[in-house]
Amino acid sequence: MTEEYKLPDLPYAYNALEPYIDEATMKLHHDKHHAAYVAGFNAALAKLSEARAKGDFASVQALSKAAAFHGSGHVMHSLFWEIMCPAAKSKAPSSGALYDALARDFGSLDAFKKHFSEAAKAVEGSGWAVLAYEPTGKRLIVLQAENHQKLTVQGSVPLLVLDVWEHAYYLKYQNKRADYVDAWWNVVNWAEVEKKFLAAKK
Ligand code: MN
Repeated sequence: MTEEYKLPDLPYAYNALEPYIDEATMKLHHDKHHAAYVAGFNAALAKLSEARAKGDFASVQALSKAAAFHGSGHVMHSLFWEIMCPAAKSKAPSSGALYDALARDFGSLDAFKKHFSEAAKAVEGSGWAVLAYEPTGKRLIVLQAENHQKLTVQGSVPLLVLDVWEHAYYLKYQNKRADYVDAWWNVVNWAEVEKKFLAAKK
């Protein structure tokens, strides 16, 4: 029997991203919101399994949609925790494979950051900014994701993602999403992003 999805632990303490992301937000975000996506993904897959057993696919459209939403929510949050780190450990690259690819595909690291920030600030409603590796063209692209799963380029591998759902910032930043986006760059784990880039382009 296939194992259920599990909520991964944060790779640091709840208060490790202070003052840029506060402890209370991290607790709610990880323990409640991310946990709900894990539960929702497992529930949708279990119901699809029941549907197969009964040969009753009346709900297959709704269940497929739920699986895509909750499954993408789980994947995106798991990645989000990994690509952040305490500000003292966050070091933007000045050389290396990721730096070179960002310069090639966006003009420069600063041009990439500007593009990514603007994409994050402009997400309509709840969603994400995404830096992804697109394997067909072997290039990096910046996308927006509405909810967790919409507007992707199929097959692209997310490397660096920023959650701009209100639950990610509202306790500390209220309606000022732009301030949250600008502050968030202080806690990017660039070494982890480079690692994911190297794995994606193999
Ligand atoms: Mn979230």
